[in-house]
Amino acid sequence: ILKVEDIRKSFGSSEVLKGVSFNVKKGETICFIGPSGTGKSTLLRCINQLTIPDSGKVLLNGEEVTHSGSQINHFRQKIGMVFQNFFLFDHLTAVRNVEIALLKVKGMNAKDARAKAMKELQQVGMAEWADHFPAELSGGQAQRVSIARALAMDPDVMLFDEPTSALDPELTREVLEVMKKLALDGMTMLVVTHEMGFACSVANQILFMEHGVIKEQGSPQVLLNDPKFERCKAFIGQFR
Ligand code: ATP
Ligand code: MG
Repeated sequence: ILKVEDIRKSFGSSEVLKGVSFNVKKGETICFIGPSGTGKSTLLRCINQLTIPDSGKVLLNGEEVTHSGSQINHFRQKIGMVFQNFFLFDHLTAVRNVEIALLKVKGMNAKDARAKAMKELQQVGMAEWADHFPAELSGGQAQRVSIARALAMDPDVMLFDEPTSALDPELTREVLEVMKKLALDGMTMLVVTHEMGFACSVANQILFMEHGVIKEQGSPQVLLNDPKFERCKAFIGQFR
């Protein structure tokens, strides 16, 4: 469903991504792990063109996302993204946050947009909180609303950049539960995370990144139990 080919990106003189390639099949969950500053966030941002790569290609269902010009908004809907810090609109209630793009981007009518937004909030267990503002929600609840907002666009792929790293363990658990359910329902997901338990139980593949390249990749069993590289072993060891 998603093909990433030799993506490179430099900021000034530092090359942050040095040729990253991988494929994702429909329904797969891929977890990215690796030390800070190795380009994980930059890679996710290059996939939906929030950051424009210097070279390389991203293909979604065989269609090129890179260099797609005016089509880019179409692809951004098809590739949903969830960030560490949610980015909800503070002056809008939960349900308004979810329906706003349905109204403004998809041009849905008010009734259909509300029904769709409520359905997505239901999915993430936030329907009772529809009329609350972000300031009245816990971090975990706010993150679940931002997941609902991305889902409302009916994406083919969801990107998650450390969705739980700003949260307490209790709240982390409720967000991971929602993500696990999405994965089991067949969503295709790319997840940057330090949650090895989640990676182990949900991921089809784990990719270990270091210094802008994929150093090691494989099933959770192989990568977490028998990593080839010392650095990968040491990195995983920290979270055990
Ligand atoms: P972390 O685990 O800390 O989130 P990461 O693997 O996500 O790290 P990136 O955020 O992709 O790493 O950053 C990789 C490198 O690129 C860092 O050295 C960062 O300072 C640099 N970088 C990222 N975005 C920019 C930017 N817009 N301008 C300049 N440098 C940037
Ligand atoms: Mg990051």
